[in-house]
Amino acid sequence: MLISIVVPCFNEEEIIGRFHAHVTAELSRSGTEFELVYVDDGSHDRTLPLLEEMAAADSRTRYVSFSRNFGKEAAMLAGLQHADGDAVVIMDADLQHPPELVHRMIQLYGEGYDQVIARRTRKGDRVTRTLTARAYYRLINRLVDVELVDGVGDFRLLSRRTVDAVLELTEYNRFSKGLFAWVGFRTTTFAYENAAREQGRSKWTFGKLLNYGLDGLLSFNDKPLRAALYVGLLLVCVAGAYAAWIVGVALVHGVDTPGYVTLLVTVTALAGVQMVMLGLIGEYVGRIYYEVKRRPHFLVKATNTTSTSVPHAKPRGELVRR
Ligand code: UDP
Ligand code: MG
Repeated sequence: MLISIVVPCFNEEEIIGRFHAHVTAELSRSGTEFELVYVDDGSHDRTLPLLEEMAAADSRTRYVSFSRNFGKEAAMLAGLQHADGDAVVIMDADLQHPPELVHRMIQLYGEGYDQVIARRTRKGDRVTRTLTARAYYRLINRLVDVELVDGVGDFRLLSRRTVDAVLELTEYNRFSKGLFAWVGFRTTTFAYENAAREQGRSKWTFGKLLNYGLDGLLSFNDKPLRAALYVGLLLVCVAGAYAAWIVGVALVHGVDTPGYVTLLVTVTALAGVQMVMLGLIGEYVGRIYYEVKRRPHFLVKATNTTSTSVPHAKPRGELVRR
């Protein structure tokens, strides 16, 4: 049984060496047969040379390096495409995903689970972040078909058939959390306490998080459009009732000419609602725009492994090294 560890790395020069040592030691300890697939997501520090060194020193290490930063989603996709294992574990390079937990995952995989998910507790997080996350998941689960769970991220083990299923989903706008949930199969979850990032900085800024959250909401299904429709209908009903009331008042008390404020508020509010809904439709159109281009998810600059950006085109079996 071969376990592939897929590791997206973006500017991780400070920690990648330690990560490698830690994971290798951990997996060797239990005698697991494994390979490491590093994906350098266009780092502009010394991540790539370090990966090359690591690969030269250890035949179980492979790397794929992107021509520029394509984002973690693309990096994970590349890693999954290049992983040959019977099961694949996706891990961050910053040691926030404790390598010890891989044993637990492999054990549960042995018990027949296709997806073994490590769910981080929010212990140690800032209160604001915890609360935002909670509110976000409550909202998103209303609007998305698949169940998304707070604290569940990309740290998980996927069986071969799950990986193949994920690779079938070739969409350009990738929201892995949703994709993994969409795929399904036998899934189990266990909790772990998140370690603080030891070196370097998190690449998540508030703006990026906001966009990611929006992506999750929109790139998955069209329920927000449905919601917009309902809001529109609701507004029409409210307007109708208000109109009836105005007419009623005019019939009983006669006509005067009030309502400057009412008029202004109504017009601006409705304009706002319309802009939001247009924006919503625009988001979907934008996504269609990117999907129909059918551009590759990433471009490879350097690798020590057989490379293709087309899922399933990869030759199975014998691994050819350059
Ligand atoms: N990462 C990546 N491309 C990016 C941003 C991040 O491959 O554009 C990698 C990064 O190297 C790390 C993982 O994704 O291994 C998670 O990134 P980070 O630690 O910054 O995110 P956080 O843990 O704060 O969610
Ligand atoms: Mg991190």
